[in-house]
Amino acid sequence: MTHAGPSEVPNQSPPYADIDLYGHDRALQEAVAANGAGGEAPALGAFGRRWGSAAMLEMARLANEFPPRLKIFDAKGRRSDSVEFHPAYHHFMAESMSAGLHASTWQADATRAPAPAEVARAARFYMVAQVENGHMCPVTMTRAAVAGFSGEASLVKMLMPKLTSRHYDPMLRPWREKISITLGMGMTEKQGGTDVRANTTRAEPDGDAYRITGHKWFMSAPMSDAFLVLAQAKDGLTCFFLPRFVPDGRMNALHFQRLKDKLGNRSNASSEVEFDNAHALRIGDEGAGIRTILPMVQLTRLDCAISSAGMMRAALAQATHHCRYRNVFGKPLAEQPLMRAVLADMALEVEGAVASVMRLCRAFDLAPSQPAEAARARLLTPAIKYAVCKTAPALVYEAMECLGGNGYVEELSLARLYREAPVNAIWEGSGNVMGLDLLRAFAREPEAATAVIAELARDAQDSPGAAEAASFIVETLTGEAGEAHARAAAERLAQLAAVAALATGPAGNVAAIFARTRLSDGRLGATYGTARLQPAETGLLLKRILPAS
Ligand SMILES: Cc1cc2nc3c(=O)[nH]c(=O)nc-3n(C[C@H](O)[C@H](O)[C@H](O)COP(=O)(O)OP(=O)(O)OC[C@H]3O[C@@H](n4cnc5c(N)ncnc54)[C@H](O)[C@@H]3O)c2cc1C
Repeated sequence: MTHAGPSEVPNQSPPYADIDLYGHDRALQEAVAANGAGGEAPALGAFGRRWGSAAMLEMARLANEFPPRLKIFDAKGRRSDSVEFHPAYHHFMAESMSAGLHASTWQADATRAPAPAEVARAARFYMVAQVENGHMCPVTMTRAAVAGFSGEASLVKMLMPKLTSRHYDPMLRPWREKISITLGMGMTEKQGGTDVRANTTRAEPDGDAYRITGHKWFMSAPMSDAFLVLAQAKDGLTCFFLPRFVPDGRMNALHFQRLKDKLGNRSNASSEVEFDNAHALRIGDEGAGIRTILPMVQLTRLDCAISSAGMMRAALAQATHHCRYRNVFGKPLAEQPLMRAVLADMALEVEGAVASVMRLCRAFDLAPSQPAEAARARLLTPAIKYAVCKTAPALVYEAMECLGGNGYVEELSLARLYREAPVNAIWEGSGNVMGLDLLRAFAREPEAATAVIAELARDAQDSPGAAEAASFIVETLTGEAGEAHARAAAERLAQLAAVAALATGPAGNVAAIFARTRLSDGRLGATYGTARLQPAETGLLLKRILPAS
């Protein structure tokens, strides 16, 4: 006889599913409106309800529980170099591409779509990050790759009609025969990821094309239709377009060695690959590889910050939901002063992250026509990528603890989120690299960068510590300590940007709290719950997380 479990379990929170990811998120709605995309609200609402459904959350579990498998050979020993995914993964690719997350910020000629394309996409991307993260890697790389090849008219003409299609086509066949394509990126080699000048992969001219020989140590989304790769040509490191198939329809000589066994990001495949005289087309001049691929990398960095902010929001919302239902010592956790302090402190962090990330996306929207916004995007991308991606793991961990033992168990998504959270800081420019990039951005255009910092201080109005933060950032970026203090400058700059973004939006009172507890002297310790919040401030922050249940 089987033992029937109870159908009602007292004092456990109901499932956190069938959520309205947009309608329940006040900070997101305000950031979207403040950055020019308020007109998108109805569409974002529909998107948020679709992605927050129980069915989507279950698909996300499946996509990660059944990770991709590399099929190097077919049954008869011929190379197949293909990757097999669970149908749930394909489901997410189809959903994200139908929403245009891989292309909506581009026009057919590879110029930027008009504002608020970036903010509207970012709002969707932020919601997707709350559900399934692995498939966001190829989506990100596809949209960012356009910035890499946009100067190459022949590639723009060939690729953009396929790249802007919203119909996901997972078939492994020549890209010219497909409805749509996705693109990946190969820079990192065994001997160096940050220092790509040390790349040893070689490129030899072959008529109008090149032959690439060498390897990549990390090349994610190996089932992409083509990759932007770096290789050494006669005149130095150069960027190439390397398709899966050669023009006559045969498979190109990309030989996948194995897939990485990763801490998180498990639904996404990340490969080690060798190139054996692989066919490729040059993008940009020989020797200009880094300059050519950098605009792509800047966009992938922006996406890292958006998705880390989304993961933080997912963790905070789940923790808050649970604490509203769970009673301990006769009272819901959400009414216990110490738990309120923890949740409110985390909420403040998420408020700052979403406000600063969306304002940064606004800068990308306006950059083509406004040099000051282009300078803002250039200076703030490394700082915000650094700060938000570094904050996410600790915040997700704290949220996990709010659920007690349940948080640590795989059946809820927090454990998966916790394993996922560090990757955004590690790839696309790790922490120190972002600090160095910030120093470089400042040194290259000191006047424009100083003006950006002054504007942030102005936007922050009289928020406590804002003026001092602005002086500290400029002094640190120009001071003798140089590289050694770059992390401090990046963190402060991201915090100042958060205050400025909050102060210019409708959440002005949140800006003051953020400034006092982050820029000024309102913090007693390094963990969440140690900000010295007044009861009224705590109440305000908690109310903003989720509507009353
Ligand atoms: C899941 C996953 C997927 C990936 N997918 C791809 C992909 O699709 N394509 C691709 O090209 N790469 C990919 N990568 C690689 C990733 O971008 C690199 O791992 C990253 O750039 C760091 O390079 P590295 O591993 O060689 O470390 P290193 O370059 O050796 O850096 C090690 C550490 O040193 C720090 N450091 C570097 N330079 C300095 C300095 N001057 N001063 C102080 N500190 C410094 C870095 O911040 C880092 O913390 C992926 C990585 C992961 C984890």
